[in-house]
Amino acid sequence: MPETIPLQDTTVYGPIQSRRLGSSLGINVLPVSHKVCSSNCVYCQYGWTPANPSQERLKRAPVLLAEIREAFEQHAREGTQVDCITIAGNGEPTLHPDLYDVVIGLKRLRDAYFSAARVGILTDATQVTRPRVRATLALLDTRYMKFDAADEATWRRINQPMGAIGFTGMVDALKTLPEIILQSMFIQGAYDNTDEAHVAAWVRAVGAIRPLSVQVYTVDRGTAAPGVTEVPREQLLEIANRLTTITGIPAEVFD
Ligand code: SF4
Repeated sequence: MPETIPLQDTTVYGPIQSRRLGSSLGINVLPVSHKVCSSNCVYCQYGWTPANPSQERLKRAPVLLAEIREAFEQHAREGTQVDCITIAGNGEPTLHPDLYDVVIGLKRLRDAYFSAARVGILTDATQVTRPRVRATLALLDTRYMKFDAADEATWRRINQPMGAIGFTGMVDALKTLPEIILQSMFIQGAYDNTDEAHVAAWVRAVGAIRPLSVQVYTVDRGTAAPGVTEVPREQLLEIANRLTTITGIPAEVFD
């Protein structure tokens, strides 16, 4: 397995070519010197979430939007293909206090420079009970919510959430969010969420949440914890097919 990757060092990064998103410009609203996240996933490609982060301050919305405008202008001048614009970056974007204003401004900039591109977010779903976060998520075209675990114990072991929210509260909030796409990471080795009992429970939980669809994937980069290994593609396909057969919810495997 390769090393973990460096943090993004700019507000706008990419475009990243992926089977999941096409040509995606990434938006990082978080610091560039350290990860800021409400989770500490054992498979995180950026390594562990630091306990004592640097003192780098968050950029506020006007600064972020000025940087986004400048980068979009340049990409438009250079004719960059942009299928979507994805808020992700160095941790959990819904922790940024100005995210609502950033999304409003970002959509205006999308309309001006890349009008066909959808604006989405990748989130660990730990903040979904907060009204301001729900209002922000509602502004977006696409909402990708992390959902790797079917129970509190597995969630705490694999995703290591740091906030006060419990697993049941998060699942209940996800059930009431319209038109979400779940992203489910399956891993093996030192940590494993692919055993029969867990997959059966995951299918039931996803069936209760009723997302638009589910993206099933596995690790392809270095991980924070040692010994985390990828799941064979055939097993991912089995999990995805099982979900669709039982619940009718479309599931795609990405690797
Ligand atoms: S939620 Fe994402 S950024 Fe945060 S620790 Fe997990 S994988 Fe890393």
